This record gives sequence, C-alpha cells and structure tokens, in this order.
Amino acid sequence: MAKAQPASCMDDYDPASLPVTEALRRIELVVTPLHHAERVALRSALGRVLAEDVRSPVDVPAHTNSAMDGYAVSAEDLPDSGSVSLRVVGTSWAGRAFEGPLGRGECVRIMTGGVMPRGADSVVMQEDCEREAEAIRLGAGHRRGQHVRRAGEDLARGDVAVPAGKRLTPAELGLLASLGVGEVSAVRAPRVAFFSTGDELRSIGEPLLPGEVYDSNRYTLYGMLKRLGADVIDLGVVGDDFDAITSTLRDAAMMADVVITSAGASVGDADYIKAALDEIGEVDFWKIAMKPGRPLSFGRIGDALFFGLPGNPVSVMVTFYQFVTPALRRLMGETHAPVARIPVRSATALKKRPGRLEFQRGILGRDREGQLTVRSTGEQGSGILSSMSRANCFIVLAAECGDVDAGDFVDVELFEGIV
Ligand code: AMP
Ligand code: MG
Repeated sequence: MAKAQPASCMDDYDPASLPVTEALRRIELVVTPLHHAERVALRSALGRVLAEDVRSPVDVPAHTNSAMDGYAVSAEDLPDSGSVSLRVVGTSWAGRAFEGPLGRGECVRIMTGGVMPRGADSVVMQEDCEREAEAIRLGAGHRRGQHVRRAGEDLARGDVAVPAGKRLTPAELGLLASLGVGEVSAVRAPRVAFFSTGDELRSIGEPLLPGEVYDSNRYTLYGMLKRLGADVIDLGVVGDDFDAITSTLRDAAMMADVVITSAGASVGDADYIKAALDEIGEVDFWKIAMKPGRPLSFGRIGDALFFGLPGNPVSVMVTFYQFVTPALRRLMGETHAPVARIPVRSATALKKRPGRLEFQRGILGRDREGQLTVRSTGEQGSGILSSMSRANCFIVLAAECGDVDAGDFVDVELFEGIV
C-alpha cells in the first residue's frame, strides 16, 4: 500500500475543506429523479435508462430445445454399460420441429435450437455416437437431461427481464428483442445548459491575442454530457461581467434541468459567479478535499440544479466525473453503482501530499512479466489536458496517502469499459 505519512505543515490538510464523500452525499440529497418517460423504439433506446420494469411476455426459451447438434433420446434408452443402437426416425431442425413422438429404441436427429420431440429428454452429441445406416450406436456415461435448454430456464413469462433504472446496453437490446419487445419506456433525457466564463476565452475561429486561450471546457463538457445521454444546450462564452453572468444563469435555469458553468468560481477579483448566484439562487461554495478540482459550487437556481465547476480543463473533467455524473445518473433514475476501483502496482513513484483525494492521470498496461501496472502520464498540472487524452485511467490516491514508491499498490478507475 502507499505509505500514509504524518501530516506536516507542508501538506494539503485543510480543516475547512469538504471530503469528496460528504460532497457526494449532499448532492444526492438534493437530486430527485425525473419522472417523465417516453416510448422509444428499441434501437433508439441504446444508452437510455428504463423508466419501468420490462417483464417477459413469454418463456425464454419458449420451447425446450437442444443445446447441441446430435440426437434427441429418451433417458430410458441410455445404457448403463455397453452400448445400444437407436433407430433414427426423423429430424428436428431449428425452426422446423419433428412432429411425431419418440418411441422406445428410437431417436431423432436434432440441430442446435431444434425443439425437443415428445418422448425425448436428453441429447447425445453427434461426436459421441457412431452413425449406422438408419441408426446410431452410443455407449454409457450419458446423463438424463444433458445438452437440453429447458423452456423458461432463462426467463419465465412474467419475470422482470430488465428492471427500471437500467441503462440499456447492447445486451439489453438483444435481450428485449429476444422477447419480441420493440419499444420501451425510457426516462426523458435531462436538459443541461452550460457556458464558460472568462474574459480570456475565445471561440474556435477567432484569432488569439496575448493572454487569451481557446475555450476547451465547452467541448469536454459537450462530450461528457452527450455520452451520458443529456440534451445539451451550449450557451457559449460569457465574459467576467456580473450582469451578463446573472442574466445568462437566469435564462439557463428557465430552459434546463441542470445548469453547469466552468471557471470564475474561486475568489479571484474577476470571479463573479458567486456574487451572481447569491442574488438568484441557493448555492453552496465548497472547498473540496480533492485534487484537481478544489473549488466546486452546487445548489439550485429556481427549479434547476446548478454545478459551478472550476476553470482548469483537467479539473472540469475530474469534477464532472466525480460529481456531475452521479447526479445526472440519479436524475435519470439510474441505479448507479460507483465506478470500480481496481488495485494495481504503480510502475513509477508518484508525488502526493497528504490531505486531498487525488485523481492523477495514469496509463494502465502490462509490464514485462505480464503483470498489470499503472504509470503516470507525467506532469499533473490541472491545465494539462493532454494528460487526460494520453491516460486510460485515473490513479486514485486516498486523501491521507503520501508519496507512492514504484511497486506500491494504488487504485485505478478505468476510463472505458467493454460495453
Ligand atoms: P478561473 O477559475 O476563472 O480562475 O480559471 C482557471 C484557469 O482555467 C485559467 O487559467 C483559465 O484561463 C482557465 N480556463 C477557464 N475557463 C476555461 C475554458 N473554458 N477553456 C480553457 N481554459 C479555461
Ligand atoms: Mg476566470
């Protein structure tokens, strides 16, 4: 484990700052799930959250069928020792059943998915028998019921196939299709309005004067919100101007469920967000015990939720993933499991002062011995957005933890899963 070092006057402990878990708890208390749902065609429901349980209208599988290519037999005919010869009386194809029943000493050629004929309860794989003209010969060692998928073994009619609160992935699209369900009730997409603040910000296409930067936060926010399935409303850049910020916040709160701003949230001279919010909302300003992303504001403007994210590009992403993502998932009615943290060895030493929960950018891979290890992307400044692009995970270092030696275990949160 990474060493916990005693706090010193050099560390990042700040008694007035809020632990991440406490901020999350306070956010969760305020967010109530959206109640509106809409009917959505199955393919369009990919990535949407189910508003109500989908119960299976049928047994899955609908018929008892074969899991293998082989021969359907009655267990009564399976030999305990030696071998027997069974007469082949027909074929059951997937989609074309064998009509007649099976008599003693008989079997039916059956394909994977073929309906089990009446009188048969087991399947002998074709590899396990010898074909003789109109018969097969098979030996001992078979089990009653082998290689058979029973009707309803996956889902019985009336069972909940996919519960409310589930975000639909390719697996659910297939599962719902297998039930013949072509349309679902999905929670409506939350409307999220966002804008950037700062006199130094320019939009793409404009020339940059000394000291000016292109507004990148609106692009990362756009991407992160889209990925979550939000309806995004991009309100552009607003300068460091009290009246402009106040009126944009007011408009945003009228049109959206959630309002997000970036920058201007600390106590610099040009930070007008706080003054504006004091006038039109109920918003708390938190100093969070995390890095990057210390200042965060959260509250309400009218009926809308408000997040005031920091200005630095990496801080925006980290605070979004840690706070806005769980809030939006909850708003969408999603039953949200926290992101898995996986312990792996750190290939490199990591600098860390005790006091704040840190999200360093890491690259997870394998070392020469094939062991999973993570290495740092290098410089961890909160303005270095390329670190987020090169990384494939966060290295999550607990608040109390100090410097990490190469070879110590650290937790990582992966950026991408399989689905
Ligand atoms: P602030 O919170 O306003 O003090 O901003 C902190 C830092 O983030 C400053 O260096 C800003 O220039 C930078 N910054 C703020 N907003 C953006 C943005 N939308 N895109 C890129 N950088 C930004
Ligand atoms: Mg600023």
